[in-house]
Amino acid sequence: MAVVAEGEEFAPQATSSSSAGGVAVDGSDETELVARCYSPVELLPHRRLVRWCSEVASSFFSPNSEHSDDPLVDVVRRDPQAASRFIRTVMIFSGLGSVVVCASCAIFLVLYWSRCGGCDRPLRWWLLMHMMLQVMQIPVRFVFLAKMKTAEIAGSSLEACVSSFTASPAWRASKNVSLFTYGWFVLGIVWVVNAGGCTACPGIYRMTIAVIIQAVARAVVALVCFRLLFPQLDTAGRVEAPKVEGAEPDQISALPLVRFTTNLFSEDAASCAVCLSEYELGESLRRLPCGHHFHRRCADKWLRRSKRCPLCMHAIDAECEHGWKPKKVI
Ligand SMILES: [Zn+2]
Ligand SMILES: [Zn+2]
Repeated sequence: MAVVAEGEEFAPQATSSSSAGGVAVDGSDETELVARCYSPVELLPHRRLVRWCSEVASSFFSPNSEHSDDPLVDVVRRDPQAASRFIRTVMIFSGLGSVVVCASCAIFLVLYWSRCGGCDRPLRWWLLMHMMLQVMQIPVRFVFLAKMKTAEIAGSSLEACVSSFTASPAWRASKNVSLFTYGWFVLGIVWVVNAGGCTACPGIYRMTIAVIIQAVARAVVALVCFRLLFPQLDTAGRVEAPKVEGAEPDQISALPLVRFTTNLFSEDAASCAVCLSEYELGESLRRLPCGHHFHRRCADKWLRRSKRCPLCMHAIDAECEHGWKPKKVI
């Protein structure tokens, strides 16, 4: 049986054969006729609108450039599991926070809009704008979560998902809205601090304070979450430099010493990689477990700052893989 596709244009002449009843004259069965005759033709513009909206939404949330330079992609690349937990927590917390704030503001403004008109600071307009900015962010957060969930079910990489979503117009728009929200937020704090009591509408002061506290709480949660999940990264996503650990004096003095002679090394002109000067006959050299050698004074000074060989970065207290056996100390 031919299936009538959703949104398909129906041929008007098809309705004329409906009165035949039972099997239609053109051989198609009754179900198709019923579908053709009674499909709500008047809904077609509505269906077209829905289809157009879904196409626009789909392109809005799809990448429109090959490359995303968002710092979030770097964070995901370093640790996909921790990044997944971080994005989920922040998106759910701020998504639900936005829903609660929008609902509370909407109810409050509907009830007290005209009463709050007499206050000396336009806090009702601040609340309305803040609510609208939050509403704009909600779809981006939940679509991002849904895309991550889809990628997880399909077993595809999180990095590809985040890279694709952060290259979409929706993500860029969301970042611009966030920037504007920040400016608006600062303005709200200034108004609240300078607002005198509003006798006609005392609730608006408390409402604005509650919205501000909620926004600060969201920022704190995101920051704490990031620090807990990525202790090795700073807040801009950069890796903190590893700590340089020096060797203990007895570890240094336990390393063998050799006296330089012309036949000690195969190279004609052996030199110290720390001070870059050539060894002279009779000079005392420190030999590290990795087999590299340096002037005693150069090696000892270096090792007090870092216990790693300046040439190969092998730590002097780490297991030596090459099994170098120290020569007899002269
Ligand atoms: Zn040296
Ligand atoms: Zn070495």
